[in-house]
Formats: sequence, C-alpha cells, structure tokens
Amino acid sequence: MSQPKSKILVTGGAGYIGSHAVLALQQAGYDPVVLDDLSYGHRELVEQGLKAELIVGNICDRTLLDNIFSSYTIDAVMHFAAFIAVGESVSEPAKYYRNNVAGTLTLLEAMVAASIKRFVFSSTCALYGTPEFVPITEDHPQAPISPYATSKQMVEKMLADFDPAYGLKSVRFRYFNAAGADPEGRLGEDHSPETHLIPLVLMAALGKRPDITIFGTDYPTEDGTCIRDYIHVSDLAQAHVLGLKYLQQGGESEVFNLGNGSGFSVRQVIQAAQQVTGRDIPIVESDRRPGDPPTLVGSSEKARTVLGWQPQYDDLTQIIRDAWQWHQQRHG
Ligand code: UDP
Repeated sequence: MSQPKSKILVTGGAGYIGSHAVLALQQAGYDPVVLDDLSYGHRELVEQGLKAELIVGNICDRTLLDNIFSSYTIDAVMHFAAFIAVGESVSEPAKYYRNNVAGTLTLLEAMVAASIKRFVFSSTCALYGTPEFVPITEDHPQAPISPYATSKQMVEKMLADFDPAYGLKSVRFRYFNAAGADPEGRLGEDHSPETHLIPLVLMAALGKRPDITIFGTDYPTEDGTCIRDYIHVSDLAQAHVLGLKYLQQGGESEVFNLGNGSGFSVRQVIQAAQQVTGRDIPIVESDRRPGDPPTLVGSSEKARTVLGWQPQYDDLTQIIRDAWQWHQQRHG
C-alpha cells in the first residue's frame, strides 16, 4: 500500500487568505487540512467550496493540537488564524495578544513537541510602522504602531528564537494589503464586521451600505488620503506554496515582503471601483483611524529572487474586478 500523502495543517483556512492558500495547495497537489474556530471563518467555503477537511477548534487549545498532530502526519503548518482589525486592536489589545501571540505560542509548542519543523507564517507590513523610506524592504526598521502589528512582530521574534533552539524552520510573509478574490469566483473576502477598504467600497457600490467613509483626508500624501500597496490574494496564496516548497527543499528560515511595489490612495481605489462597477459610490470624509500610517508600499524583490514568485494579477483594476465578481455573487 502506498503511504498516505502528508498533510499541511492550515490554521485559519476558513478565512479570507487562508482559504485561498488551501485552494493553491490543492492545485499544487498537496493535501491541506483546515483548523479554524469559525469565529470569523466560513464553514461552507471549506466544506463545499474547497471540499477540504475541516477541524473546528481554536489554536489556544493545546489538547486539540496534540490530538491533531498525533492523528495526522503533518509535514508543515501554515498559520493564518489571527485577529486582523487594526482599529479594534487599539481598543481591545488583550484580545490580540491572547489569540495572535499566546495562541501562536501554543501552536508552536505543540509543533515542537510533535517534531513538526516547518512553519509558514502570515505576518504583516504593519510591523514597519510609519515608513522611513519606500518601497519598504525587509531590513527596514520596525516600529509597530498598533497592538495588531506588535502581536505579529512578537510572533516573528519567537520564530527567530525557535529556529536555533528547536530547529523549527519558518518562512514569514509580511503582506501588504491583501485584496481581490479567486478569479474563478470560488472564494472571496467576507469579514464580519468588514473593516477593509475594497470590500466596503464594493458593498457601497451594491447599495448594501449607504456610503464609504474615508478615514483621514489630511495625510501628507498627494490627495491627503492613505496610500497602500494592494496585492491580489491569489498571488499571496501562490507565494505560500512557494514558501512551503522552499522549506521542504531545506531552505533556511527567511522573511519576505509580499506586495506589488505600487501604491494607490484611498481616493484612487474608490475611483477605480467606480469605473469597474459603473456605479456611483457616495463618499463621507471623516477623521483618521487610529493606527494607520500614511503610506505603505513594499519591495518584494527578495520573494521574486529567492522563491521565484511572480505575481500574476498585479493591476488594481483586475484586483477590484475579481473582488466585484465575488461580491455580486455573495451579496448582490
Ligand atoms: N479605509 C478607509 N475607509 C474604510 C476602510 C479603510 O478610508 O472604510 C482606509 C484605511 O484608513 C487605510 C486604507 O483604507 O488607509 C486601507 O485600510 P484597510 O483596512 O483596507 O487595510 P489596512 O491598511 O488597515 O491593512
């Protein structure tokens, strides 16, 4: 009898980026199994959309993790399960340190106990804080300005220490702004509550929200609104598969930015969405949101060179078009 395929545990695989990573893993011939507590994830995306195995549970549950690691042959863990709302992290930091930091520590301890040595981590460009230069490279100084960003930075520090101590090899991906949806319409973004710009703009285009609020029009940028580097979620997912292969081929622990290298302001995103949807999107101008740096644009040269990553959908219009297709289907 042939050996069963070793599995990749995907925490948070019922969420936005995690579910796209599950799809990319399946397409690359891997056998992902999802661990998700469904606090924000969607059961039907995993069970019906992806036809992947779903274990419902929390990363803080050490007994559950030990059971998973003893019942399955897990070759590597991709870790997406985390709270992500920057603004909420400022008002409820404990929630972020509990789940994102203590939960990840529990997961890493269980991996060490089970001798699982490969870890692909969903980190964030937010840990650079307000940039001193753009595009931001991986060696840019770190100065997180929100508990969310600090929680990711703390995990990165743990990973740096876990390699020499326990031989746990990791790839840490610092995402810029994940956006868009599977171009074939199987998956997409559905946070509740939604805090991200592009889905909120599209909900306003659909008439599901009255308008889009611009958080801050007095930033030191050309049109006064924040500039972000929007990266297609399917390109992000592909990078995770490459990161996993890199570790499986014996690669050393590494950190990579994932972005497009070009920035768009909040107003430019709204304009592009108006063009893609052909709808009028009412705008309300409001105060700055706590924790938002004015400009975040990244250099992903290292991921391109070391991993051979090549974003396929690197144009804002395409990103919004794919997101629009999903939103119309899901909420239209
Ligand atoms: N933003 C906005 N209105 C919204 C949501 C977001 O003006 O309703 C702005 C936000 O202040 C930031 C940018 O859009 O400058 C991207 O925010 P998002 O929450 O999508 O991603 P983040 O940069 O926080 O990861």
